[in-house]
Amino acid sequence: MPTTEFDMRAAGTWADERQTVTETICGFCGVGCALELHVQDDTIVKVTSPPDNPITHGNLCVKGRFGFQHVQNRPDPDAPAHRR
Ligand code: SF4
Repeated sequence: MPTTEFDMRAAGTWADERQTVTETICGFCGVGCALELHVQDDTIVKVTSPPDNPITHGNLCVKGRFGFQHVQNRPDPDAPAHRR
């Protein structure tokens, strides 16, 4: 389970009913796995792959499943104020 889902469920902020799912293709490598981006409040909170996909069968490598935190344009809370 992604830490985002674990943390949000623990905090009571995980809301399936407010999430949308956008299908796309992972561009990290040439395999091109099918991705489902689960978005809540304009933030990707989980990435899955369709279980009925004939190539991935719902599986993804660690980059495809957990690399989504690197594509979010979020301010770095540790950066100096002028760089946020
Ligand atoms: S999920 Fe992994 S194997 Fe699939 S395209 Fe992305 S990086 Fe490549």
